Amino acid sequence: MRNRLTEQRRRYRETIPGAGKAGYQRKYDKAMSGRDPKAAIAAKCLDCMHWQQGRIKECPIVYCPLWPYRPFTGRGEAASLALTT
Ligand code: SF4
Repeated sequence: MRNRLTEQRRRYRETIPGAGKAGYQRKYDKAMSGRDPKAAIAAKCLDCMHWQQGRIKECPIVYCPLWPYRPFTGRGEAASLALTT
């Protein structure tokens, strides 16, 4: 089981595209370490936007639970647009 999971993750990691591939792979590694929630959010948003960092800022899925935490949006922008109840 563990070997299968490791192999699935290795194969996924190899598909990470883009000019910043090495950096994005490192971010993915940090996310999968289970010790860096910010890296996990960043990796998920990057994956969601096909590893195009610039598209995260323009994410139109405002109801996504990760939307207020999106990385690369400028200092505090996402948080300032978070809904309050
Ligand atoms: S906030 Fe946007 S980019 Fe990030 S996971 Fe949600 S839908 Fe995808």
